[in-house]
Amino acid sequence: MKKILVTGGAGFIGSHLCERLLKEGNEVICLDNYFTGSKENIVHLMDNPYFELVRHDVTEPYFAEVDEIYNLACPASPPHYQYNPIKTIKTSVMGAINMLGLAKRVNAKILQASTSEVYGDPKVHPQPESYWGNVNPIGIRSCYDEGKRCAETLFMDYHNQNDVKIKIIRIFNTYGPRMNPNDGRVVSNFIVQALEGDDITIYGDGKQTRSFQYVDDLVEGMIRMMASEDTFVGPVNIGNPGEFTMIELAEKIIKQTQSNSKLVFQELPKDDPLQRKPIISLAKEKLDAWEPRIKLDNGLEKTIEYFKEKLR
Ligand code: NAD
Ligand code: UDP
Repeated sequence: MKKILVTGGAGFIGSHLCERLLKEGNEVICLDNYFTGSKENIVHLMDNPYFELVRHDVTEPYFAEVDEIYNLACPASPPHYQYNPIKTIKTSVMGAINMLGLAKRVNAKILQASTSEVYGDPKVHPQPESYWGNVNPIGIRSCYDEGKRCAETLFMDYHNQNDVKIKIIRIFNTYGPRMNPNDGRVVSNFIVQALEGDDITIYGDGKQTRSFQYVDDLVEGMIRMMASEDTFVGPVNIGNPGEFTMIELAEKIIKQTQSNSKLVFQELPKDDPLQRKPIISLAKEKLDAWEPRIKLDNGLEKTIEYFKEKLR
């Protein structure tokens, strides 16, 4: 039985990861300050004696004897990470320093939940891991993008300088049950709007693209990455290469919810990337032929079911 720390464990992705790690017979410490996560996401795990909940902020040092750390603590939706940009960058950078320090001290393996945002508004399409990105260092997305880029640097430096066993994954847009209905990301926004019969808010002309990955595929990739040989540290893209415009996404959601909602066009937020699609050949090669299994239509169906219950 391994002892595993999941920071940001009460969030959308973290809650699915905690659930899976417990199912596999591990002991899990879920650490969270509940900025964007909630106890509701993990309440079903609380009866498990191998599950422990810690209210803590990763910008402060934390100590526990653990074998593995998954570092997910960080708000992920643009409205939430832009709400207090200084806190966001502190969470990414000081959180990484504190968790890497812990990993070094207890000799734990540590995985960083990095992001496709390190590619910024990419000039290379689709994106391989070797692409350095096109990121505005002083824009409204910078607290998140540069925070995550700096965290990658810290991970590599702790690995090279102190032999800390690290893993870096770059997660592309992920969706599924337990997304926060108010967090402003596109999939949750559109589903909630469609179910409530409200207008669907398309930012810009809706022709910008994203590649959407269902959360179970991501969790599988995370676990395979943690288990991969120590010499493979990443970064590795974990995402679904299916690429859709926001208009296509809205049309799918309207059809699947049988909604009468209409599309309305609003201003495109500053620095909003125009396109995004991962190249996943490295993940396939290194992670035991990992590839996403769940198609957008099927994943949306499960997510719509979740929101129907939630909004009831
Ligand atoms: P989320 O907002 O649901 O989860 C983040 C969790 O971190 C929340 O529970 C929040 O309360 C917690 N948190 C925030 N600041 C903290 C702090 N200072 N100390 C302790 N806990 C803190 O978002 P998510 O979608 O589950 O994202 C999880 C991770 O995956 C994030 O690091 C995010 O950057 C990364 N990621 C997500 C996506 C995606 O599409 N969902 C894409 C790329 C990367
Ligand atoms: N978006 C939109 N309507 C919304 C929310 C988002 O058109 O109600 C667009 C947004 O401008 C972006 C895309 O959807 O182009 C994905 O946005 P999200 O915030 O989910 O993720 P990110 O921009 O970080 O990839």
